[in-house]
Amino acid sequence: MHVLGTSSARPAQGRSVSGSIVETQDGMIVIDCGEGFQNRLILYRSQMKQHAGRRLKISRISAVLLTHGHLDHTWGLLPWLQTMSLDGRREKMVIIGPTSKVVIDSLISSGDLTELKSIQPSDLAIQYRMWMDLGANSESLGFDVEWILGDGERWLDVSTSRLISLPQPISNVEISSYVTKHKVPSCAWKIRTKSREGKFKRDKAKGLPDKIRASLASGQDTEFEGELLIASEFRGNDRPGISLVVSGDTAEQSINTECDLIIHEATFLDSHSKIAEEHQHSTSSGAARTAIACNSKHLALTHYSGRLDSHELSLAEAREIHPSVIALSDFDRLILNEDYTLEHLIKLEEGWIHHT
Ligand SMILES: [Zn+2]
Ligand SMILES: [Zn+2]
Repeated sequence: MHVLGTSSARPAQGRSVSGSIVETQDGMIVIDCGEGFQNRLILYRSQMKQHAGRRLKISRISAVLLTHGHLDHTWGLLPWLQTMSLDGRREKMVIIGPTSKVVIDSLISSGDLTELKSIQPSDLAIQYRMWMDLGANSESLGFDVEWILGDGERWLDVSTSRLISLPQPISNVEISSYVTKHKVPSCAWKIRTKSREGKFKRDKAKGLPDKIRASLASGQDTEFEGELLIASEFRGNDRPGISLVVSGDTAEQSINTECDLIIHEATFLDSHSKIAEEHQHSTSSGAARTAIACNSKHLALTHYSGRLDSHELSLAEAREIHPSVIALSDFDRLILNEDYTLEHLIKLEEGWIHHT
């Protein structure tokens, strides 16, 4: 995960508002896209080129997953789409986010969004309508954009008003969503890489002719010198996938799934738990309790209140509850390995350093 913003509500204490990129072997996904996202992305990519020796390929990003409609999570989307259009993007982009039931009902029955007075101004449906007016459609952008809204039970392709199943834009990656508790419709996103078949046991196949080995490696039971060799006995166990949950903004609550890493908002400290409840946000210890409930091996804190000039206290409070917690800062990188270990790379002026 490439972390492009860790502040809540507004830029503060040198932090920017929300936005992250999840990179998998098979493609990339943006999760939330707050104000100024594209500026940060430009800067981040040049830092990657300079200090990590590679550039993130924007064309490999095939989806934007929004956790909710608050502007610190969405307001950077339209300008970024327009920049990609100017840069000549041709690849399709899927944009998915939560909305209210009344929006889905209305789209199904009448196919339009004009009569929606009862929903909140920051419902994603309202922003969708504005973005359309401002040219965020496939014709104006020159690349296909598919807008999908869901109410926690149903997903709907907004341009056709048809109910669909949640799109899965990256092969070998499963995306799912979980309703969360916030002042507007909101959800957490889970990204899971699918399990892969075990490694071919080269040692066991040693001494067999190339042709027989190739046949076993391709999964075919194969006869050799009068004996039937069973292909599955030449493969190790399946390697399970790894999974990541990103909470978005939410009051403390259980997210009904398991994962290996959870990135959770930690807007407030315990001393402000009343305010956290009132504003439907979490404390860092609340984030830790959710991480425990999700059986998550690791917890990464983000989305700090502008009052917090450092994340040290947030970290200390969460570590009282969960054994593996890190606190994110802007431009950090997180690497979740296949053996479930987590590497936290912290951005300094001269590049990234491993934090242990
Ligand atoms: Zn927020
Ligand atoms: Zn919010």
